[in-house]
Amino acid sequence: MRCPFCGTQDTKVVDSRLVSEGAQVRRRRTCIHCQERFTTFEVAELQMPKLIKSDGSRESFDDDKLRNGILKAIEKRPVSMEAVETAITRIKEKMQATGERELPSRWTGEAVMEELQRLDQVAYVRFASVYRSFKDISEFREAIDRLESHSVALPTAIEEDKDDA
Ligand SMILES: [Zn+2]
Repeated sequence: MRCPFCGTQDTKVVDSRLVSEGAQVRRRRTCIHCQERFTTFEVAELQMPKLIKSDGSRESFDDDKLRNGILKAIEKRPVSMEAVETAITRIKEKMQATGERELPSRWTGEAVMEELQRLDQVAYVRFASVYRSFKDISEFREAIDRLESHSVALPTAIEEDKDDA
């Protein structure tokens, strides 16, 4: 691992620990030459399904796009970056667990809503209003109602969709 400060390859790990519920390894490293310290994260490389957009075209799954969508929703909300990374990891694991090579892009949107519902209710409503582009006030009301019944076993967005079909 090259030192980002002086460029030497002589660095050593001083601390390792699991983060994001064990999905990542965080390592503190120190440079033998300049003594600077830096952090690296290790994650398993996952082969993600392609996303099928509403117009039928395919696009590669993009971590940053997913992260930016979530960050926008949680802006100025009390949600830690660690919680965001954990949510992203969980969404990716779920995508993988489908065993599909392609998934409708709305599948990811629903998965994000599920995570946000758990993390922060304001963020959830923000994301849902943009993602679902509520056509009228009744749709918005529906999303709020869902939050209010959250403490009582709330059906997930995805399960609800199945019922509709
Ligand atoms: Zn160095």
